[in-house]
Amino acid sequence: MIDLHTHHERCGHAAGSMAMYADAALRRGLRTLAVTDHAPLLLASGVDDPAPGMHMPKSAWSGYLDEAVALRDRLAGRLELLVGVEADYIPGREAAYRALLDDQRLDVVLGSVHYVDGFHVYDRTRWSSNADVDGVYARYLELVRAAAASGLFDVMAHIDAMKARAPRPPSAPEREWDATVAALRAADVAVEINTSGYRKVDEPFPAWGLIERLHAAGVPLTFGSDAHRPDEVHHAWATVHAGLTQRGIDALAVVRGRRREMVPLEAFAPAV
Ligand SMILES: [Zn+2]
Ligand SMILES: [Zn+2]
Repeated sequence: MIDLHTHHERCGHAAGSMAMYADAALRRGLRTLAVTDHAPLLLASGVDDPAPGMHMPKSAWSGYLDEAVALRDRLAGRLELLVGVEADYIPGREAAYRALLDDQRLDVVLGSVHYVDGFHVYDRTRWSSNADVDGVYARYLELVRAAAASGLFDVMAHIDAMKARAPRPPSAPEREWDATVAALRAADVAVEINTSGYRKVDEPFPAWGLIERLHAAGVPLTFGSDAHRPDEVHHAWATVHAGLTQRGIDALAVVRGRRREMVPLEAFAPAV
């Protein structure tokens, strides 16, 4: 029972303290929980917090890691707490992120593309009436590929999230997806099955068809609820467990100390 993607109030748009998410995980019988709040956004501007309410400010970074380490130690023997982070991929800022993420305290780094052409993926205002939905989606996937290739991340998060707020389902050409699956495989990163998709649209990120393609290509999969409230910890695991079993996907990845290990699905209880 794992959940490798959770937030808390530090980022400015999630509710509850880190300890409240750990309590929720304990109540649900999880064995392993990663705290992965939004890393500081390192735009070239050098401003401490260029997107207030979306990420923790840079000045909060070290305190965040210290709090997670202290909580991990306090929970030892009851819950495995992994010290993680969800970091943005910002082209051209790889070196700044490499310096930030080069920290012995980190177990796992999730990589996300949240910004395309300066708009957040969930920002509906980007879509003018004549928006080139497929063109924007293609640029988004190009960034996902570049993020994977950057080597900054252990797990790529919600790799088709942009579909959730697009004015119509994007129809990225098959070759875009072929290239993306191949790039993820070549980069040797894992991809999460993110159940915030079920809270925004009626399927996970990525869609089940893509999960099948990733698995067939040998891309390791993992699970994250992307909880922004304590009661969202482990959200929709039973649905995902059933979907994995049905497709013969029999192991999930866990990352500790920046090293990935595959855990057989039998080790995960199906329910709750
Ligand atoms: Zn968030
Ligand atoms: Zn995200």
